[in-house]
Amino acid sequence: MKTLKLLSGKEVSILGQGTWRMGEKANQKQAEIDALRLGIDLGMTLIDTAEMYGEGGAEKVVSEAIVGRREDIYLVSKFYPHNASYKGLIAACDRSLSRLKTDYIDLYLLHWRGSTPLMETLLGLQHLKQAGKILDYGVSNFDTDDMQEAESLPGGKAIATNQVLYNLMRRGIEWDLLPWCKERNIPIMAYSPIEQRAFVNNSKLDKIAIKHNASSTQIALSWLLHQDNVISIPKATNLDHVKENGAALNIKLTESDLKELDLAFKPPTRKMSLAMR
Ligand code: NAP
Repeated sequence: MKTLKLLSGKEVSILGQGTWRMGEKANQKQAEIDALRLGIDLGMTLIDTAEMYGEGGAEKVVSEAIVGRREDIYLVSKFYPHNASYKGLIAACDRSLSRLKTDYIDLYLLHWRGSTPLMETLLGLQHLKQAGKILDYGVSNFDTDDMQEAESLPGGKAIATNQVLYNLMRRGIEWDLLPWCKERNIPIMAYSPIEQRAFVNNSKLDKIAIKHNASSTQIALSWLLHQDNVISIPKATNLDHVKENGAALNIKLTESDLKELDLAFKPPTRKMSLAMR
């Protein structure tokens, strides 16, 4: 598994697993656990979840998927902006820890920016880190101006990642946010890396997919895996999808493939506001 180093020195896999939409239906639970376990076996040991997903249900699914292998997992969870006050996020973290059946979260993220002053949220995150309940903290859905503001506050320079929408069809962050983060060694965690199935049978990817004996979705994921300073977290419950995603790591795109992809999915030519799901 290819890895990337966080500011804190921790090495994490550049291909992880998402869990949005997991933990919503009881009859899907075992399939979700099996999918996450297969992904872990294939080296996708970074698991992204959130208190929002299935209103705690996804964290419970994750807790079962990682039983007996907690130390192999890099566990990421996120708290709601309405829980981002100092007291609120400490309580939210305790609830997540209890659902996840663990005593620490590797990386804890503010899901998106709300009305709580960032200074207060950063204080709460530092408290949780000192208490050992989280090992690192970061943000999600922050545009460059939000990152600049956070960086200027106490504890802001320790932000370990910014989790944002990024894939071949959504390249807006390449204009400013991606280089800004790269200059500071803050990895971007790309969510919806396969644009929620939008690359399936995408004719713009056909030629390259055939050349690499891969699916068009794998090519889109592989493109992200070729980007510097980026971690990708596709979500898959279907076991064939999990295997396909894991195998995307073995695809080596050539310079000419990358140029062709730039022509088919153009990089931004101006500042674009950060897109969000
Ligand atoms: P995604 O990973 O781009 O796409 C997931 C969808 O693609 C699922 O329907 C899945 O189907 C399907 N799929 C997976 N692998 C496939 C493959 N190889 N071929 C064809 N289809 C495939 O979308 P996402 O769930 O929005 O994003 C990924 C993760 O990012 C989330 O789960 C979540 O952890 C995180 N996220 C964060 C935010 C945020 O605000 N911070 C927002 C959105 C997402 P099956 O499940 O049936 O296999």
